[in-house]
Amino acid sequence: MRGRQWYSAAARSLMHTTGLNDAREAMGQQAEALLDEIGIDRPPVDLRIVGSFQRVRDIQMLAISDAGRLIPDGNDFIIQVNAGHSRGKQNFTVGHEIGHTLIPSYRTRPRIVEDITTGAYDQGREEEYLCDVAASELLMPMRLFRARAAPTGLSLDSVVELARLFHASREAAAIRLVQTNLWPSAVAIWRWAYKPTQQHILGQPTLPGMEWAVPQKELRVRYAVHSSGFGYYLHRHLAAQTDGCLSRCFTEGGVVAGVEQLELRKRLVSLHVVAGAVDFYGEDGPVREVLSLFLSEGLVPSANQRGFDLWANVED
Ligand SMILES: [Zn+2]
Repeated sequence: MRGRQWYSAAARSLMHTTGLNDAREAMGQQAEALLDEIGIDRPPVDLRIVGSFQRVRDIQMLAISDAGRLIPDGNDFIIQVNAGHSRGKQNFTVGHEIGHTLIPSYRTRPRIVEDITTGAYDQGREEEYLCDVAASELLMPMRLFRARAAPTGLSLDSVVELARLFHASREAAAIRLVQTNLWPSAVAIWRWAYKPTQQHILGQPTLPGMEWAVPQKELRVRYAVHSSGFGYYLHRHLAAQTDGCLSRCFTEGGVVAGVEQLELRKRLVSLHVVAGAVDFYGEDGPVREVLSLFLSEGLVPSANQRGFDLWANVED
């Protein structure tokens, strides 16, 4: 992220206000300043209180298709959240909506925001990305999170424990765990998907002899975050080994630990991984994704029976 260019009015207004030349850092600083002002010193962060400092008058749980909405109401705001989402997901969404109110360009011209999803960390959509950055800091303030993560180590147990402590989803906690930079590591979320370049072929008739070209779904990276010092880059849409432990995790559910071979920059790399299946209801019914933690060479992530049980008993 360092050195990237920011183009949106939202990013520029944040950089202008803080005097920083990175909008991501600027947003982090705004969120941190808000928490300091309130005097948050332990988890879980009460987002209703945080919101009230930003003139959020009410947070409503409703049966809506969006993940969340931010609605200006006079000088105040109302946040609406998808009642069908898990508590962790809802909290992240509330943090995301509060994030919008931290952006100077939004505050001068408030408008209704309808967020179909939150937590996608889509860097192409700067304002939405920055609100995800704010959500992460508001829900899991780095100072508090790092202090609790350091003694627990990098494991799925830690993910479950930190998610519980901070009232966050396992995915959000895992991403934060890697962002602490305490270990050279990465988190990747995998889903069963086509490559985007294959999507357009699907609607077309198959010619005789061309059956081999019909795209197949594979377990692919939806999203990945790397710590500094990890040394590898798990890019979006990267495919997992068809007979590896990530594929087994996807097929069988539960938790796996082992060595996964990935083709990175046309080179086969072996990495230690622990992974757990995450089941939830999406728009088209039940969805399974695989949440994986990678450690670079020399460090072996731990997996034990307790971890297996813990993971299996979480709903988020
Ligand atoms: Zn948004």
